[in-house]
Amino acid sequence: MQNKEKLDILRHSAAHLMAQAISQLYPTTKLTLGPPTAEGFFYDCQPQEENFKEHDLPLIEERMHELAKQDIPITHKQISKEEARKIFHDNPFKLEMIDLIPDETVGLAEQGEFKDLCRGGHVDSTSEIKNFKLLNISGSYWRADRNGTPLQRLSGTAFFTEKELEAYLQRLEDLKQYDHRRLGKQMELFSFHEEGPGFPFFLPKGRIVYNIMMDYMRKILRKYDHEEISTPGMLSVELWKQSGHYDHYKENMYFSEIDEKEFAIKPMNCPGSILVYKERPRSYRELPLRLAELGYMHRHELSGVLNGLFRVRSFLMDDAHIYCTSDQIESEVLSLITMINEVLNKFGFDNVDIALSTRPEKAMGTDEMWENAEKSLSEALNKSGIKYKIQEGDGAFYGPKIDFKIKDSMDREWQCSTIQVDFNNPENFDLSYINSEGKKERPVMIHRAIYGSFERFYGIILEHYKGNFPFWLAPVQVQVLTITDAANSYAKNIAAELKKADIRVKLDDSSDQISGKIKAAQLAKVPWMLIIGKKEEQNNTVSVRYQNGKQEQGLSLEKVIEKAHELNKY
Ligand SMILES: [Zn+2]
Ligand SMILES: [Zn+2]
Repeated sequence: MQNKEKLDILRHSAAHLMAQAISQLYPTTKLTLGPPTAEGFFYDCQPQEENFKEHDLPLIEERMHELAKQDIPITHKQISKEEARKIFHDNPFKLEMIDLIPDETVGLAEQGEFKDLCRGGHVDSTSEIKNFKLLNISGSYWRADRNGTPLQRLSGTAFFTEKELEAYLQRLEDLKQYDHRRLGKQMELFSFHEEGPGFPFFLPKGRIVYNIMMDYMRKILRKYDHEEISTPGMLSVELWKQSGHYDHYKENMYFSEIDEKEFAIKPMNCPGSILVYKERPRSYRELPLRLAELGYMHRHELSGVLNGLFRVRSFLMDDAHIYCTSDQIESEVLSLITMINEVLNKFGFDNVDIALSTRPEKAMGTDEMWENAEKSLSEALNKSGIKYKIQEGDGAFYGPKIDFKIKDSMDREWQCSTIQVDFNNPENFDLSYINSEGKKERPVMIHRAIYGSFERFYGIILEHYKGNFPFWLAPVQVQVLTITDAANSYAKNIAAELKKADIRVKLDDSSDQISGKIKAAQLAKVPWMLIIGKKEEQNNTVSVRYQNGKQEQGLSLEKVIEKAHELNKY
């Protein structure tokens, strides 16, 4: 048996154990269903008196531990529906389930006095359920029907070992503690206001990080021979009709009017890029033409799905459109794969999961176009030497694509980067180039993004680093702290020298206690603290305290600047 199956059995048994505890403590509660989930288990029930509250969980958990200690055997057998109806006569949910089961008989699980309607798949005894934790109470509906009977869902998790359980609970704690919305507030990086729901505000410190992400991206664009353009935030509705956005994406677009003509605020950068391509006839000598745009766009998202920087209504996309011949797809894609990996590695994402999505059932373009493009993409992936999987039929109707999934420090997967081949837009906008024989030909268009949305990527790296930005990204890189007022003028000079060396420095020469100053710098998650006292002034040195608590004393300022410059490279 697979580990996953074994874990499901354990977790489902834990759900039974919770149900047994509930039926002993709150005997009138009507139980419905208790399946295992990817992260644990739950049981949906309908309390007859008071609703369950958070403070009931420890009580239920305690009873579960008692029942586990009693080492009660868990048995399972098939019984007739008639018998089952007798057992569950006062539970309308179970009666409904019995009616829905197509077989003659139904399964009955028993542990001590507790009986449950169940298909089976349990551990042998309650004593095998040791490492569990009840986590929360939420609302649900009978048979997941929003118009159906409201229920309460009690959820928890269970593992085979205490170590696994503890690691999981620590991860939940981390996710809460390092939620980017919380860190954003604590570190004064960004904010949201009622006046602009879903539209993030970047504060001075937060904008520094944003700008470095931008600088770094521009450096990468130069390295990989992209040319940067910018196109307007508003363009006429006619263009969006031609691109198909008006027909298929209207609900997510904002509209406005200029001189009684209808305009749309751009939800994507592609049509603007296409207008640049079409400005004049293009020759094969110009291809591949790599037009990058750090384009700011707006998309209407429902208020219910807005989620910090992860889901916003306005964002910057590091977009590029590459116009090339079909023979150039492979080398272009290979270069893009290298480019994307370089960027993701720079942010500490080494674990990249790559998928190639191929032709779906409904697709435009000829067989030849698809075969050539899919072959080019897989050849590029093979040459890159990176492992990838193939998602048959998962491509867009207008071309195959490659998706990159990263895994963050808290084990979550995110899809950010993507390379998308497009046969549709060149057709739709009648794009052409003059080939070496002087004849008109249609180019292929490749869309690609690396960060994807800057805002979302920002939220992801903030959580990935748990707020501890590496030196090159940190809004304040060095905080100079004085131990006594007597060191203020020496400290001021140090800070001035660091600033001159282009290091982002902040001086804390307040009269607070040094312990308080250290605490403040820690909360702001500044990578280096330079602690300055009498001794440092006398010896003309500084002491550095790093983010991880390590300290170095008696360093010359030159040495510190040299080290900072080394770390500042990107
Ligand atoms: Zn069961
Ligand atoms: Zn595009």
